[in-house]
Amino acid sequence: MGSNPASRAISPLITGNSSKPDHWLFSTYLILYKYFNKNRILFTDLDGTLLGGTRQDRDRLTDWLWSQNGQIKLVFATGRSFENIAPLIQAGELPEPDAIIGDVGTSLMLANGDPICPRIHAEIDTLWALPSQLVEQQLAGIQGLVAQHKTGPRRQSFTFTPPIDLQRACQAIEAIGADALVSDNQYFDVLPKGIHKGWAVRRLMDHWQVKPEHAVVAGDTLNDLAMFQVGVPAIVVGNAEPALRQALPSNSPHIFQAQAHGAAGIWQGLSHFGWHQYPQEN
Ligand SMILES: [Mg+2]
Repeated sequence: MGSNPASRAISPLITGNSSKPDHWLFSTYLILYKYFNKNRILFTDLDGTLLGGTRQDRDRLTDWLWSQNGQIKLVFATGRSFENIAPLIQAGELPEPDAIIGDVGTSLMLANGDPICPRIHAEIDTLWALPSQLVEQQLAGIQGLVAQHKTGPRRQSFTFTPPIDLQRACQAIEAIGADALVSDNQYFDVLPKGIHKGWAVRRLMDHWQVKPEHAVVAGDTLNDLAMFQVGVPAIVVGNAEPALRQALPSNSPHIFQAQAHGAAGIWQGLSHFGWHQYPQEN
């Protein structure tokens, strides 16, 4: 791991003579720093976002997060299932998060795979009970959908290759009281009504009692759109799909459009929102 960014941040206060005023100033700074930074959360998508850009970009971001001494929670918000993410964490490809919003918002877990709160999953189960029995039947006549089997228990997912009648597929899903979500021009997710990444972000912020101004979300495709509609500061990374940009409101000061891709875009966005003051790009 490289030099500690936190040390660089406080270095102007601790260089030179270690006189009492300097110690007092340093202690005051630390108290204020911890007070104003506590309980922040970064919610980030994985593919194309935290996993986008270079490994160096990701390491710079995660090194800085760790240097904050637990003042910032890291939460993945992804379409991947926990079983798919765990090997990446164990292999060091991803940092260990504080929590995982998996399966497009239908699973909310701690890093060890335990539910964050069983009551939240029970809420989703109730919404999913009926549609889960009807999804395949509703989509049986639509050509081009390929079922994905390694997903969580509260959604069904498909991949597709155009041409495909997506409008008909979406209408078939809405008819059984579920939601259809198309993203990245290849994924077709069937979700419990009203459940998505944005719902899960809001639910988790309520659970942890985090203020909107203390959260940031980051993403790159249409399945991240619901996070951008929560109303918290948001980062669209530079490699975002055009359909996401078109779906976003044109004048939203809480949404930052990064130039850099993936993790470097998150880094730019966190600078824009004042979370750090290091150069946006090296
Ligand atoms: Mg993505």
